[in-house]
Amino acid sequence: MTQKFDVVVIGAGPGGYVAAIKAAQLGLKTACIEKYQDGEGKLALGGTCLNVGCIPSKALLDSSWKFHEAQDGFAIHGINHAGVTMDVPAMIGRKANIVKNLTGGVAGLFKSNGVTVLQGHGKLLAGKKVEVTGPNGVEIVEADNVILASGSRPIDIPPAPVDQKIIVDSTGALEFQQVPKRLGVIGAGVIGLELGSVWSRLGAEVTVLEALDTFLMAADTAVSKEALKTLTKQGLDIKLGARVTGSEVQGEEVLVKYTDANGEQTITFDKLIVAVGRRPVTTDLLASDSGVDIDERGFIYVDDYCATSVPGVYAIGDVVRGLMLAHKASEEGIMVVERIKGHKAVMNYDLIPSVIYTHPEIAWVGKTEQALKAEGIEVNVGSFPFAASGRAMAANDTGGFVKVIADAKTDRVLGVHVIGPSAAELVQQGAIAMEFGTSAEDLGMMVFSHPTLSEALHEAALAVNGGAIHIANRKKR
Ligand code: FAD
Ligand code: AMP
Repeated sequence: MTQKFDVVVIGAGPGGYVAAIKAAQLGLKTACIEKYQDGEGKLALGGTCLNVGCIPSKALLDSSWKFHEAQDGFAIHGINHAGVTMDVPAMIGRKANIVKNLTGGVAGLFKSNGVTVLQGHGKLLAGKKVEVTGPNGVEIVEADNVILASGSRPIDIPPAPVDQKIIVDSTGALEFQQVPKRLGVIGAGVIGLELGSVWSRLGAEVTVLEALDTFLMAADTAVSKEALKTLTKQGLDIKLGARVTGSEVQGEEVLVKYTDANGEQTITFDKLIVAVGRRPVTTDLLASDSGVDIDERGFIYVDDYCATSVPGVYAIGDVVRGLMLAHKASEEGIMVVERIKGHKAVMNYDLIPSVIYTHPEIAWVGKTEQALKAEGIEVNVGSFPFAASGRAMAANDTGGFVKVIADAKTDRVLGVHVIGPSAAELVQQGAIAMEFGTSAEDLGMMVFSHPTLSEALHEAALAVNGGAIHIANRKKR
């Protein structure tokens, strides 16, 4: 007999699994279809984020940072110890355990919330029927509502075909069993910089080849300039305006060809990470008569509420327009399920924080000063350097700054940009303030604990109107 559900979700990444849990919590009979298998051939929930994305990359970033600190950052605290070594397989093993715990945790949440897991490949047919091709054959399920959450996968480029041995994508770069001596990274985006940082901290000579002349285009210019300076000082050789045109694996190394302002260049690496972006996954997801439209870039077409061209069929996360971020996917999932229940949920796409987990961290929410000026909006800007923060000094982590941008007419905060320690957490405070339409003056009047890194946000907000206490104000009151 055909199984019938109120909601069927295809894909158990942070978009799909969160949507499925929320739907079950709201009393909807829910199933989630997932096909991903881990290295042991077992079904693993959690999608890119938990298995090969956000979490494993952060695990390696944290391990490699501790090694780097143990080598170079302890002496200043008076901690002297010699002979720190790195056991790479142990680091990779720790990462694998974290992934296992978290993906198992999603399975536990599905169980406790009563979400039915259907293992296999899901394909949307006409009439909100879904075909599931799993280990035990083909099954058709029916649903009142279908949520497509099939995510994304790394983009391949013909000049550097991935073999997962010498030329790897982001997934392969999480599995190196030893530190490559010479590591190339194609693409100076978030993933390239994070993975490049991991292996650079462990001793690899890292060269990043980026086709664009501008570094971190989406970030505020003040932040991207500081980031380029700091990451370069840390040893990342970031070549801008360097477009990779070809590669040749020769035994255990790879010869990479690229063009820059001086013409054609070649460089040899032991490993090459291709990190040139991600593309939506729609392979065999939609039957030809499903009625769901795909836009010209391959994303499933949706409106502001993630509704597709077929009533009762929604799409969320990386497979639709917008930032490819886990928290964006999850919140879209919540919004869709709330709307299925008839609630008037909306999502504030203007306040999705972006984070790059390098050291220092880079994070922002809202608009950049350049974007606001281009829109003709007059702004006041306040900045505060961590070099003037007592807490940052105590931690010996004084690089970077907080920048708060406010509307010159209303004083409403329009952007918070941070490069420095705990930038991701600080920006979240900015996001909360901005969600409630807070002015820089209001933020400046709040009481912040001392000594905290958050005081840098406080001081930057004060600086917007010339009221910072612990630095000279650029603007006078
Ligand atoms: P996914 O997580 O891709 O999940 C989709 C799931 O659907 C997959 O499990 C897939 O197997 C399954 N699926 C696809 N098609 C079918 C089908 N037909 N049938 C059944 N199952 C199917 N984002 C952040 O916010 N913060 C970070 O720090 C961060 N770091 C990242 C680091 C790396 C190295 C990478 C690669 C990504 C990172 N991201 C980060 C991005 C983040 O992982 C994605 O934005 C997020 O996972 C998207 O969620 P999703 O649910 O849309 O899709
Ligand atoms: P992101 O989309 O943020 O992950 O960043 C990917 C980066 O890869 C972008 O900045 C692209 O400009 C860059 N890129 C894409 N193709 C190439 C190429 N052939 N050579 C060098 N950089 C590239």
